[in-house]
Formats: sequence, C-alpha cells, structure tokens
Amino acid sequence: MEKKKMMHNKNQHPAEIYNSIRRIVFSIYHRDGYDHAKEILEKNRSKLNVQSMVGLKAELSFYHRFQKEYCLTPALDSGEHVDFAGNIGIRPVRFDVTTNEKFKEFKNYEKFLCEGYDYRIAIMDGKNWEIKDVIDLAFPKCPSCGNGNLFSIAVLLGENFNHKGESQWTHDQLLLDVCPYCEEFRERDSTTTHFLPKISDYAQEVDHEDLLEDDYKRIVEGHTHNAFDYLRKLWEIKTIKLMGLADSTYFTTSKDGDGYWGIKFQLLQDVVRNRFPDHIQTGMLENTSEEW
Ligand SMILES: [Zn+2]
Repeated sequence: MEKKKMMHNKNQHPAEIYNSIRRIVFSIYHRDGYDHAKEILEKNRSKLNVQSMVGLKAELSFYHRFQKEYCLTPALDSGEHVDFAGNIGIRPVRFDVTTNEKFKEFKNYEKFLCEGYDYRIAIMDGKNWEIKDVIDLAFPKCPSCGNGNLFSIAVLLGENFNHKGESQWTHDQLLLDVCPYCEEFRERDSTTTHFLPKISDYAQEVDHEDLLEDDYKRIVEGHTHNAFDYLRKLWEIKTIKLMGLADSTYFTTSKDGDGYWGIKFQLLQDVVRNRFPDHIQTGMLENTSEEW
C-alpha cells in the first residue's frame, strides 16, 4: 500500500500534495460552499496521511465558522505556523488551527510574533469539529529580563484560619504573572474559594490504601483538572487566560528543616509546558487583599 502510494506520487513532495489539495479545497469552498469542499477533501483522502487529513478538516471547519467574523483568508503555508490571517475589530490576527495542542510549543511561534498583531492557536475537537479552546499568544514581555514572557499562573494556598485558630473552611488562590526565564513574578489578582485545597494536600488526604496506583493518580489528576478549570473560568471573566496551576509549597533543603517557600507547578498548558521549571522560589505567599 505504502509503496503504491509512493509510486503514485513519485514526482511530488508530500508537502506539495498537501498544499495543492488545500488550495483546491478552499477554492471549491469559495465557489460551491462548505459541503462540496468537504466532499472534495474526502475524495482526496488516499493522497493524504491521517494527520494531514484531520488537519485540513479542522481548518475547513474553523474557516467555515469564523470566516465572516474575523474576515479570514487562508494563508500560504511557508513554515510560519499560520493557517489564516484576518482581523479582530481593526486589529490584525493570525490563526494556527490544530486538533492536537501537544505538538504546539510557544517557542516555535516566538520568532513570528510581532507588535501590532494578535497570534492565536485555535484548538479544535477532532471528534465533533467544534472549537475547544483558543490560546492568544500575545503574552507580554517580561519587564525584568526582557527575554522571557509573562504567563498567568494560579497558585493554591493553604487553609484559612481566623485569629482564634478556627478553620474558615476556605482557601485563597493567587493569580501571578510569572516569567519562567528569570523567575520573576508579580501578583495580579486573588480570590477565595470553599474547599479548594492545594493539590499536594488533596493527594495526602485521599485514602489510597485499597487503590491501585493508577486509580489513585487518576483521582488526584481529576482534582487538579477540576481546580484548573474552575479558576480558568473564573479569571476568563476578567479576560485573563490561565496557563497553569501551582501549589504554594515549602521546599526543605536540609535535615533540620531549613528551606524556602516557592511554587510547585502542578498543571501547565501544553503550549508552554516546556518553558517552565519544576518549581520556582517565591518566598511565602499570602493573600494580602483579605483581612482575617
Ligand atoms: Zn523574565
């Protein structure tokens, strides 16, 4: 099968085949509409690998939905990770459309980012072709080092007690802008939530004597994702895009208990994951906006 396919296309590079099919599919879209464009794409399935097929389906579906809203035009594929160019209001925007954010790393986009442009990754669900998430890559430059960027990270703090030492059944969460390059950070916002413990505290409290290791992990990961999703939605209202979740943690460096306070990253969005160390030193963090 593979041999036959290769013989069939022996004079054409796979990228050329991909680009020519993409061009045809979008011309058909403009001439005859979405359904016919999908049909043409389907007819060309045997010439594309699975990844290219899924990629083009996602692009077509995204284009169909947002062409008018963002005045999109398909971009040339010349290695700059842009599928469509358009406008959001009067601001120019570029979109890269994907179904698998695991392959998308911020560092691959950095050299294409420039002032005055928005650059977004649209993550499509490969099952129903609905949009799952949009990541705006216009992360502000870090004012301290000028090399890194600032990413919004939610930090989970410990339980709140009043001055009599009684539990308030609440936990505070801070929103920090963190530069993973020089490890500078600044506090941007905070909130207080009932029953949102740190991931490490939650993990300790799960009774896992009778659980398989995998099940235990799954329960802790479930809590991690729920905490992240809850805070992400909360801060999305203020148009802040949460890129990660961390615990405020004391790191012990010697047997007599010496150490330092820092934040340990528990969850990071795929696009920035490789940017971050395991943890950074921050000093002890507390919610200064609340009086107890
Ligand atoms: Zn920095």
